[in-house]
Amino acid sequence: MRALTLWLAAGVILCAAGVRPAAGEPVRFDGERVVRVMVHSPQQLAQLLSMTDDVWSEGATSGPIDVRMTPEQFAQLQASGLKFVVLIEDVQAAIEAERTPPERGGFFDHYWSLADNIAYLESLVALRPDLAQMFTAGTTLEGRDIRGIRITAAGPGTKPGVLVHGAQHAREWISVPVVMWTADKLIREYDTDAYIRSLVDNLEWHLVPIMNPDGYVYCWTTYRMWRKNRSYDAATGCYGVDCNRNWGFGWGGPGASSSPCSAEYCGPEPFSELETQAMRDWILTHPNIRAYVDLHSFSQVIFYPYSFGDVWPPEPDRSDYQYVVGHMAEMVHDVHGLSYDYGRGLDVVYQVSGASRDWVYGSAGRYAIGTELRDTGAYGFLLPENQIIPQCEEYVPALMWYADYMATPQRLTSPNGGETLTSGTPTTITWYTHGGTPTSVDLYLSIDGGVTFPYTIATGEAPHGSYSWFVTETLSTRCRVKLVVHRADLTSGEDVSDADFTIVGGPQRVYNFPLDTDPGWTTEGQWAWGDPTGSGGDPQVGYTGNNVYGYNLAGHYTNNMPRYNLTTTALNLSNVTGSQLRFRRWLGVQNANYDHAGIEISTDGVTWNSVWEHTGASINDAGWTLQAYDISAFADGQSTVYIRWAMGTTNASVTYCGWNIDDVEIWGVVTQPQWA
Ligand SMILES: [Zn+2]
Repeated sequence: MRALTLWLAAGVILCAAGVRPAAGEPVRFDGERVVRVMVHSPQQLAQLLSMTDDVWSEGATSGPIDVRMTPEQFAQLQASGLKFVVLIEDVQAAIEAERTPPERGGFFDHYWSLADNIAYLESLVALRPDLAQMFTAGTTLEGRDIRGIRITAAGPGTKPGVLVHGAQHAREWISVPVVMWTADKLIREYDTDAYIRSLVDNLEWHLVPIMNPDGYVYCWTTYRMWRKNRSYDAATGCYGVDCNRNWGFGWGGPGASSSPCSAEYCGPEPFSELETQAMRDWILTHPNIRAYVDLHSFSQVIFYPYSFGDVWPPEPDRSDYQYVVGHMAEMVHDVHGLSYDYGRGLDVVYQVSGASRDWVYGSAGRYAIGTELRDTGAYGFLLPENQIIPQCEEYVPALMWYADYMATPQRLTSPNGGETLTSGTPTTITWYTHGGTPTSVDLYLSIDGGVTFPYTIATGEAPHGSYSWFVTETLSTRCRVKLVVHRADLTSGEDVSDADFTIVGGPQRVYNFPLDTDPGWTTEGQWAWGDPTGSGGDPQVGYTGNNVYGYNLAGHYTNNMPRYNLTTTALNLSNVTGSQLRFRRWLGVQNANYDHAGIEISTDGVTWNSVWEHTGASINDAGWTLQAYDISAFADGQSTVYIRWAMGTTNASVTYCGWNIDDVEIWGVVTQPQWA
């Protein structure tokens, strides 16, 4: 997205970002603007930064840079020759337009103070104490607790954990309701939404809406545009360390400032700040936390490590991350149509050192992503309240998907329930694994809904994400597959299909009438079982063996004939699906305007349905041909099925040899009622 060259030299000081406003009334920003300035060289960047004290872009690089300016600074810009567009005409007006009277609408129609957010979390705990508890990760310099909510069904500490926090940067308010919305949905929809329930049952959620409460409160009381925490540097008189430059991975490199007055001040040493210490220790003391999300605004980007320099996560993590952020961006886009960029932090955001994601992934070994939420600059940090709900609607589903996907050590993805597989045919068992070093996998089959797994599909297979399986002959409607993943550096883990799937047999011959012996079917007129004579166009012998069923084994049918039938005995197809009639035909019959032949089916011997009826020109077979008819609509699952071949009616002139049939078979897929 933006070029990577970071021209912000350590000596460039964003001095006023650390200045103390007077106590009491909130600082006003009357007549101040936010402008997007096109910067093409280090000289132009230095020129811009000499005018203004508040960069809204999360880093000053080449390309467009958003900055806030007083009227005097704006006059300088106009005189400078730098190209720019005005994004916000009056920052004070935007601050006043950001919020609406709190008595209107519900919780997610507004931004709320620290105390109000914590009270809301406590109300969620009160609603479902069986699912949620409050926790305190640490205490700040000004004595505020860094509080969060932990949500999981029974067994905290034993499940894969997820940590999400907002407001590491104080003025990025939209990050707070996104965390709150996540907590709200997990609690309120636990009983009504199967997916939410699985997220709460299978994962342990650690949600901290406001990681930097001192800075957040300062925004509310005094200075809406505050970014850092509220540490004080006596030497300069400047306040605040940028928490997201203070983590101990790549600390103090490019994309951070060593000046205490800078908005990007990295602090005197890694983890010098109580906020970063608290979150670090929370992660280290909760080894089950496997996935982490750090929420910021603005610019609509979802990204993964690293940001400190041109380093990639090793495979398979790199591919996994790239897939995950891309999929999240798709999910976000699907909700309200907004586009979020995605990729590695260094590439799609800016170069930053000492950022939380790099430490959480690079040092603590947990999956970590960051997100810059809405918007792309029209309101910047002052996103109006009427965008809170759309923001939550579009991002939280993607966040939940990420958490579930990345925190889960292994998951069987197919067959995962509901499938119908056919024995003897190949199917692909698929799964994914996250974390550790998988060495091999085992796969087992249950035919009792997962109570026992007596059948081995494969053991010691390479831990790739798929296995090609020729489906077993073991038929059941209550099948599940169990995946067992062995790891070199962690205990092995397993996952089972979420619901039952079915294995049915492939099509097979259910009934076989070779007609070498008489099956005793019901005959009318000149229908007979025996050896055809070869006269009048009839065959000499059967397709197999000598005998067949034929209408007049010694020649033609007759004129002015009624309809005469050959009817099978009752066939039981109650365990069969996809029923098919197959037989060999040697048929002679005049044009259907005059003489008739057909095949019919019945389940009671009274009501008959047509399977085939002779139409059109005469048929005068000179050899045996295989005929196959789908009779599933009438025969599947039926315990008494009759099939009959009809000869006639015929008219007053011209006759043919009539029916000869051999090797009558019924095919279908056999189901096993004992498992039904
Ligand atoms: Zn931020």
